[in-house]
Amino acid sequence: MFATRPSQAWDEAGGVGTEVEQVTKGDMRRGQAGPDAQASSRPVTPHERLLQVGRGLRAALVTDAQGRVVWMDEVLALAAGWEGGGELGRSCREVLSRLPWLLAAVRTALTGEQGLGEGSGQGQHLFAVVVPVYGDDGSLVGACARLQPRRTARAEPDTPGTEHVREHYESLIDSIDGIVWEADAEFRFTFVSRQAERLLGLHARRWVSEPDFWARHVHPEDWGRVMATCMDALRQGRTHELEFRMVTDSGRAVWMRTQVTATSEEGQPVRLRGLMVDVTEQLRSRERVEHTHSVLRATFDSIADGVIVVDAEQRIIAYNKRFQDMWGLSDAVMRGRNAEAALRQAAPLTVDPAAFVAHVQAQFTPSAAVSVNVIEMKDGRVLESTSLPQRMGDAIIGRVWSYRDVTQERRAKMERERLLVAEQNARERTEESFALLDTFLNHAPVGLAFVNRDLRYLRINTALASLHGHSREWELGRTVWEANPLMAPHFAPLMLQVMETGLPMSDMEMSGHVPATPEELRHWRVSYYPVSTPSAGVVGLGAVVVEVTQEHRARQERERLLKEAQEAIRVRDDFLSIAAHELKTPLTPLKLHLQMMKQQATQGQALKPHHVDKALSQVSRLSLLIHDLLDATRIEAGRLGLRRGPVELQALTDEVLAEARPLTGQHTLERVAPPEPLVVLGDRGRLAQVLSNLLENAFKYSPTGGSVRLKLERDGSMAHVSVRDSGIGIPDDQREHLFQRFFRARNAPISGFGGLGLGLYICRDIIERHGGHIWVDTRVGHGSTFHFTLPLAP
Ligand code: ADP
Repeated sequence: MFATRPSQAWDEAGGVGTEVEQVTKGDMRRGQAGPDAQASSRPVTPHERLLQVGRGLRAALVTDAQGRVVWMDEVLALAAGWEGGGELGRSCREVLSRLPWLLAAVRTALTGEQGLGEGSGQGQHLFAVVVPVYGDDGSLVGACARLQPRRTARAEPDTPGTEHVREHYESLIDSIDGIVWEADAEFRFTFVSRQAERLLGLHARRWVSEPDFWARHVHPEDWGRVMATCMDALRQGRTHELEFRMVTDSGRAVWMRTQVTATSEEGQPVRLRGLMVDVTEQLRSRERVEHTHSVLRATFDSIADGVIVVDAEQRIIAYNKRFQDMWGLSDAVMRGRNAEAALRQAAPLTVDPAAFVAHVQAQFTPSAAVSVNVIEMKDGRVLESTSLPQRMGDAIIGRVWSYRDVTQERRAKMERERLLVAEQNARERTEESFALLDTFLNHAPVGLAFVNRDLRYLRINTALASLHGHSREWELGRTVWEANPLMAPHFAPLMLQVMETGLPMSDMEMSGHVPATPEELRHWRVSYYPVSTPSAGVVGLGAVVVEVTQEHRARQERERLLKEAQEAIRVRDDFLSIAAHELKTPLTPLKLHLQMMKQQATQGQALKPHHVDKALSQVSRLSLLIHDLLDATRIEAGRLGLRRGPVELQALTDEVLAEARPLTGQHTLERVAPPEPLVVLGDRGRLAQVLSNLLENAFKYSPTGGSVRLKLERDGSMAHVSVRDSGIGIPDDQREHLFQRFFRARNAPISGFGGLGLGLYICRDIIERHGGHIWVDTRVGHGSTFHFTLPLAP
């Protein structure tokens, strides 16, 4: 019955037992969970350790290292005579004065050895095991006593006393959550509690019976350390503690913590005893916590931000190296852990220390606020600070500041903004330039365009686009081949050459047809200029196309006129020489006849009529020449007037033939005329002049004689007159020029056939003025027939 009491006592005693359990298990859970690992890494206080072990042993009494009562269950308190309370904190000597056997066992335990005792209390025979308890640092922190009632030998006379005691010991030992063991000085196990089986799967009996059983199950890496510790314990005669790995039956490594206590007899160490506890989970947790801690520490130290954590009392809880360097804080100040002192040392580095101090101090008061601030430093740096509350659960227990050096970032941002503005300005200027360029391009009277390396139009003005017969919009982005397929084969190779060489080509004459006017031959003066950028080299070219078709035509006209003028000069010069010759020709015979006549007169002889006739004939010839010249001049000036009247052509031809007959002796003259009269309305003298001229030419250009026939006929409403000879004829290519001024056919001999080339010119003018038409049928060597028509008088 008593055996159950301590357990109840723990559970009921103001929650102490519960608290111990929570601490123990809670630690384990938190260790596994990770984030709260730091909390569990807190070293266990001696007091906590005592309560922890006490809970594990279901102890009835727990004392500290000085023998003061830390915990005592109420049953024991009753037995010890302290049922009224007040035992806590008092020495065991005082509290256990009624139970000296228990006091002796406690004292033994406080020397570091296990104390055993047996005696009566509260009317029962009680058995006590008192174990020393060690803290994390290995120092003795107190002792825990476990009590068990047992029947006395008197009460159980049939049971052998020693066997009974042993059973009780074993039952007590087996209830301990650890392996209690004992070995002799040669490290042979003499006792191993049954927990060995539960914790390690190793049978306690084999452990004792097989000498090397234990050795086989110690982890080989730990064996040397285990032996060394056991030997030290044995040699030095004091308790040692160590952690090592045992290998379970299934091959799993289990970390055990054991105390090794040596007991001596007569000054000789004779055995070792200990309690082995499974600490695998505890160590794993610790390892995980340490690992997490090291990761966090490394992270904390490696981040580029300076971080400091300050608690509610303005004590510096943590900071990283970056923080200290950033603020140039001395090691002494950081060691001092006083946030206010660090703030005072840091403030002068800022541009406005008072504002900085005020801002930080305002945040020392715990608050949930998140604050972001920008701090200008005297050395030009700019720090950005973020301060957050540090929480534990719902409570705010301090504040975390992180500082980031944003100097470069800010400079880069300012530079970016500056560049952005510059780029914006540049873009505006470019757009302005393009607008100007477009205006200029579109209003330029010449064709302008820019093409890229693919010969696509990037810009083109209306003048050039309309040459292609398209709009500017249509042309943009299209190639020169698409825009101007007729001319592209001529100019595209030149464009490529300009881009290839980077050398301009200017003022090239180009002629051809364009889609806008495919029938018309047009002319341009074209220049190509390479367009380059410093980074990309030649990116395209600018084309200037100036239409010169009009200039070209004007030039051709000028050339034609020049040629004509030169021709006219040549004709004039020819005329002058011919005219001089023609005018001079009659003068020689005239002079001759006049001299003859003078001689005859001087000699008193009668003038021979033959000389007078010859002289007069030459004068007539001169007169005719001069008339022709005057007529030609009048025709040119448009002043050749006609005196019109009815002219009867038969009579007129009779008259002219009569006058012509004496001019030739070697030609047969013939006239063919219709019976009815043919009357035209015209200038009789001028028409006679035409007939005379044609007859005279017929004589002149048939030097070997032959017949000359003058034919009159009616042709509808027209009178048709023709003069036919059988003379030299006229070459075909000369015929069209016959009626031009001063023209004389190639085959017209100069001597003997003198003439100014004016006769036919005057004839045509006279006939056409009468509404008629004049022409010639001729074959070289076979004679010529000159025809003219005149409208008959109505
Ligand atoms: P020309 O004073 O030289 O005769 P014309 O004007 O009368 O001037 O004639 C022009 C030219 O036409 C002549 O020089 C001659 O070459 C050619 N011609 C005119 N009539 C005849 C013809 N009947 N037979 C051959 N050639 C002629």
